[in-house]
Amino acid sequence: MSNTVSSPVSFTTIRSTTARTVAERDSILADPGFGKYFTDHMVSIDWTKEKGWHDAEVRPYGPLQLDPAASVLHYAQEIFEGLKVYRHADGSVWTFRPQANAERMQRSARRLALPELPTEIFIESLKQLLAVDAPWVPSAPETSLYLRPFMIANESFLGVRSAHRAAYYVIASPAGSYFAGGVKPVSIWLSTDYARAAKGGTGAAKCGGNYAASLLPQQEAYENGCAQVLFLDPLEGKYLEELGGMNVFLVRKDGTLVTPELSGSILEGVTRASIIQLARDRGHEVQERKVSVQEWRDGFASGEIVEAFACGTAAVVTPISVLKGADFTVGDENAPAGKLTMALREELTNIQYGRTADRHGWMMRLA
Ligand SMILES: *Cc1c(COP(=O)(O)O)cnc(C)c1O
Repeated sequence: MSNTVSSPVSFTTIRSTTARTVAERDSILADPGFGKYFTDHMVSIDWTKEKGWHDAEVRPYGPLQLDPAASVLHYAQEIFEGLKVYRHADGSVWTFRPQANAERMQRSARRLALPELPTEIFIESLKQLLAVDAPWVPSAPETSLYLRPFMIANESFLGVRSAHRAAYYVIASPAGSYFAGGVKPVSIWLSTDYARAAKGGTGAAKCGGNYAASLLPQQEAYENGCAQVLFLDPLEGKYLEELGGMNVFLVRKDGTLVTPELSGSILEGVTRASIIQLARDRGHEVQERKVSVQEWRDGFASGEIVEAFACGTAAVVTPISVLKGADFTVGDENAPAGKLTMALREELTNIQYGRTADRHGWMMRLA
């Protein structure tokens, strides 16, 4: 089956002959977890310096063939995105602000010297995948289909320069409710020995290399009984940046929200931007500025800071009850999730699941 669409490349769809049965799919969707199962199909689009983007396909999900000299394997020329597809009550499936992800992927590509995928092709790639894999979008409360677009340099060449050959893929993985037993506040570990990004580095790009650098401190967080790690600015080691894969907000007792300004080493989250908008809509002041870890410690201890939360596509909004470092702990691990934290979480998920009006035009129907 082949069909032409109004994006600058035309997609060919090759249907899987080994797709899971309805019963197999239903049993996966009953308890999908996160990132464990993948749908029957994937998108792939090739790029070369000579031909640009070409050979766009939806094809059966399966292993990639890479030459052992492919540059991604040696120099980590890789970027990715993450967004979710939500099933609404009428059965239709929607995604959230995909243009923002497309544009962020273009910025990441620029930083990693990869080719920029035009927004129309990015969005068309999601529609084409959902045209065959929409039945994989679960319908239970707070479940979704997580989409992982990514791009690699796959030229077989060990010389160090930007690759002349690359490929873009999209894979999809059904996701269960992140907080299956109800939203539970987490403890956060303050990393002082390691930074995730450097000035002028790749902190603002969504690239695998940043994650590789965050895994050792993440392990340190687990060893200290914490769920996530908080990184400080790479210059002075004084100001909050973000968690390994989530942005961070503090709430003052007068209702003001404070979040680290985009410093060039922080990832600009789509959830972060959406939370800022929803909080302002409610009349809250939102400050994007430098926030020192001392301000958080003092504020948590004095009661000036009454709530803290992390946010990102995967977990949406995660309340933070405790901040822990090598020589201090502030907060109370039995404290309930903050009121404003939970209200913003609910409002955002209500928009995503079509339970409330989409007044900012954030939703896009995929199937
Ligand atoms: C993806 C990501 C986020 C969250 O971004 P969203 O667009 O909200 O999902 C935050 N920090 C890092 C390092 C990330 O990679």
